[in-house]
Amino acid sequence: MTCRQAGRILQAYLDGETDDATARRVAVHLEDCRRCGPEARAYREIKRALIRRTEPDPDAVERLYGFARGLLQHETEGEGEEQTPVA
Ligand SMILES: [Zn+2]
Repeated sequence: MTCRQAGRILQAYLDGETDDATARRVAVHLEDCRRCGPEARAYREIKRALIRRTEPDPDAVERLYGFARGLLQHETEGEGEEQTPVA
């Protein structure tokens, strides 16, 4: 799974709307990917804040916007890169 694929279904995954096989693939990617893993955590923080009707962490929101911008750039460049290898 690429970061682009993970990004597209991340919200559905966090909402529990993906099927089991897809959820497992996303979970594996989030575990391995240093880019998407933190985004998933930021997403969860924002969702929790929304549920509590409190302000989301501004840092988390900013990171998420940055992530979305990165995805959009990849869209215009054709196929996005695979996940960043762990050094
Ligand atoms: Zn990724």
